[in-house]
Amino acid sequence: MRIACPFCGERENGEFTYLGDASPKRPNFAIDGGEVVEDAFYDYVYLRDNVAGVMREYWYHGGGCRSWLVAERNTVTHEFISVKAAPGAGAAKPAQAGE
Ligand SMILES: [Zn+2]
Repeated sequence: MRIACPFCGERENGEFTYLGDASPKRPNFAIDGGEVVEDAFYDYVYLRDNVAGVMREYWYHGGGCRSWLVAERNTVTHEFISVKAAPGAGAAKPAQAGE
């Protein structure tokens, strides 16, 4: 299985680490309140869908540019549909002189 990193190009999957489902959204304390927040956090931390099909996943390219990525992958065929930089993650920076 090969993964097309948006910064490094196509690489072996051994360079990457799977971090899990990228779909859950962290509950917001400022908006939610009381018991509802505890239930929402329980769902956020412990409950995941077992998708047979396309799902969004976090991957980390530790053997390359060290970027966090969001991939859409078919869990049945293992086909990667898209791979993008994770929102808020820093893009790979070119090495500075002397590093
Ligand atoms: Zn990379």
